[in-house]
Amino acid sequence: MTPAAAVDQVEVQALSFPTPSPESDGTLTWDHTDVVTVEVRAGSETGLGWSYTTPAAVELVRTVLAREVLGEDASSPVRLWERMHRACRNLGTRGVVMAAISAMDIALWDLRSRGLRVSLADLWGAERDSVPVYGSGGFTSMGPDELDAQVDQWLAAGCSAVKLKIGENWGREVARDLERVARVVNRVHGDAEVMVDANGGYSRSQAMQVGQDLDILGVSWFEEPVSSEDLRGLGQLRDALSSEVAAGEYIAEIADTRAMCEAVDCVQLDVTRCGGFTGWRRCAAYAHAAHVPVSAHCAPALHLPLAISDGAVRHLEWFSDHAALEPQLIEGAPVVRGGRLAHSPGPRVGHGYRLKDVSRFVVERIPPQRAGMHAVSSLDTHRSRRRRT
Ligand SMILES: [Mg+2]
Repeated sequence: MTPAAAVDQVEVQALSFPTPSPESDGTLTWDHTDVVTVEVRAGSETGLGWSYTTPAAVELVRTVLAREVLGEDASSPVRLWERMHRACRNLGTRGVVMAAISAMDIALWDLRSRGLRVSLADLWGAERDSVPVYGSGGFTSMGPDELDAQVDQWLAAGCSAVKLKIGENWGREVARDLERVARVVNRVHGDAEVMVDANGGYSRSQAMQVGQDLDILGVSWFEEPVSSEDLRGLGQLRDALSSEVAAGEYIAEIADTRAMCEAVDCVQLDVTRCGGFTGWRRCAAYAHAAHVPVSAHCAPALHLPLAISDGAVRHLEWFSDHAALEPQLIEGAPVVRGGRLAHSPGPRVGHGYRLKDVSRFVVERIPPQRAGMHAVSSLDTHRSRRRRT
């Protein structure tokens, strides 16, 4: 690929990976994980991106985003990010829209660094070879034996911190929450920090009471004790509790990062929700400027090149669903050793991952869109029918 090569094809599909059994946190239950993959081609090179999001993102890529990049110079992912972002002004640029932009941006950066024959970490400047992870899962739907086994697995992998879900049934099971936390505290026996995530399940007063009990148990991290929309409540809890208060997984725009940095001890950023590599690096730069530590939320394989090239990123979340899914999704999925995530050995270009044969997981696929094709929206289809009658 020459630096001036144009994007000539966009291919998008939605996949669904079942979980072994239904899983719950404090405020949600699920039995599968949705993934939307994007492959962007320019000449002989193809870049891969994905987001953990609804199949609805496929339609956004097809009808809005693909036309913003097809035929355009592939050498500047940031310029294409701006084109996509501006095109979504009237749709809103958060939630599923930003998840779709994120998948596109990740694919465009992979494409760009493949064209330059360098790894993404080297393109941005690698600061380290591996990044600390913490084990994450501990769903409220787990029985005690299952929870023990998962914690043991994380300890065996060398994790120096483990995280479990609390806030069960929107904060209606506080006694059980604290019982499960105490069980994990006893299980790790001082060999690892214990972190908890309430997924916004508590009210402010509940979170304050639970937080005081968590402090007594020695819990180091209280994530989303109240809704992430309640910045004032998060700030009050941060100031009152010994444990760190963390949130940020729903951040989409850099302005969201600015607001969250005023409310938490550590801001969490998710590359599949905050605008891909372009958006993540901007949000992380703001947090660094505000002296608020950054931790990566889920999607460990995608956060690895970002955290290798940014030594200020504290840790990656080795989320059990994604840790199980990524080796089924991609060739080259990174592995945890000694509590750290690292790329597989050997030379790499781009992020280094390639899509596996995932045909058995496909729930929606559309024909590849190529430069010069007009993306037919459902409205266009309707209009052409009307004209014929
Ligand atoms: Mg969380």
